[in-house]
Amino acid sequence: VSSMLTRCRTFKVLVIGDSGVGKTCLTHRLCAGEFPSRVEATIGVDFRERQLDINGERIKLQLWDTAGQERFRKSMVQHYYRNVHAVLFIYDVTSPATFSGLVSWIEECRQNSLGQQIPRFLVGNKSDLRDPSRAEAQVSQEWAMSFSKAQGMMFFETSAKNSPNKCGKGRQSGGEVPYQQ
Ligand code: GDP
Ligand code: MG
Repeated sequence: VSSMLTRCRTFKVLVIGDSGVGKTCLTHRLCAGEFPSRVEATIGVDFRERQLDINGERIKLQLWDTAGQERFRKSMVQHYYRNVHAVLFIYDVTSPATFSGLVSWIEECRQNSLGQQIPRFLVGNKSDLRDPSRAEAQVSQEWAMSFSKAQGMMFFETSAKNSPNKCGKGRQSGGEVPYQQ
């Protein structure tokens, strides 16, 4: 009988970052397989799930797509970080301000996860909007890579719209990681 029971472990993944960086689009893309035609601004937190089969085991990713509004955040923030398995820190590669903004999100995570060793990922979104002729107005991969190393995070760039999912140089093999059900 036990072999008929499908084991299913749930992993809670928190999606954090400044407003407008694409947190909702990324979670939608990951869970529904498409770039949403339009998104509403997130209020508080939205939940989406994605099931994965890894080595015959069913894994459930539970994505917590958060929003930054102060009045929601203050009362919710402890719930966000409770029993979390991974945190994705998202910025927009075309917006250095959203990269600078990560410092306070990382601090929030540190304050609310004392004693837990949570795997953290630095994710540069909107890589499809990269414009080589305006490189100085954007967040370079080298800059993000060295920041991620200093913070002890994994780093990759991606796009919720077109997903080449470029990985940080020297970190992973990179290449296409298409959406899979
Ligand atoms: P959130 O506030 O972080 O949840 O950001 P949203 O997911 O609501 O996205 C904000 C805006 O950025 C929307 O207009 C999206 O269409 C756009 N957007 C999100 N991800 C991408 C991306 O990878 N590429 C492009 N070109 N636009 C994106
Ligand atoms: Mg949102």
